[in-house]
Amino acid sequence: MAVQRTLSIIKPDAIAKNVIGDIIRRFEENGLAVIATRMTQLSDEQAGRFYAVHRDRPFYKDLCAFMSSGPILATVLEGKNAVALNRQLMGATNPKEAETGTIRADHADSIDANAVHGSDSEENAAIEIAFFFGDLDLNSRQ
Ligand code: ADP
Ligand code: MG
Repeated sequence: MAVQRTLSIIKPDAIAKNVIGDIIRRFEENGLAVIATRMTQLSDEQAGRFYAVHRDRPFYKDLCAFMSSGPILATVLEGKNAVALNRQLMGATNPKEAETGTIRADHADSIDANAVHGSDSEENAAIEIAFFFGDLDLNSRQ
């Protein structure tokens, strides 16, 4: 499987729980390397642009309000099969359905406040990485 890059976001709920280190440790222990990271707080408008793909969903407004409610940590992960591997480590969107030992099973309280975001394809990863980072911010570890 090829080396890929993917975007991870630690959402405001997990930042508030002070579990950044625990989440990054899981990435590193599973073969993913951090090649860029940035803490920021999105405006409601910026969160809306990031999640534009969901704009017609009933939860869109609440999602944007939540994602702009506090600081987030955006991180670019690099490694073999990074997109799917990150999704596997995250667990299902609804923490009630997330497999034991996943980030969402351990740290998410609800489907809204579900601790982490992860790109769902290589194509979307490239778009999402470019939302937060420029080429000069990416420090390949290969
Ligand atoms: P994922 O984050 O697992 O890729 P989606 O892309 O489907 O999930 O949705 C984006 C985010 O929108 C989810 O992480 C979650 O915070 C929120 N969301 C998704 N579905 C619902 C829902 N049915 N009710 C409330 N929030 C939802
Ligand atoms: Mg998604």
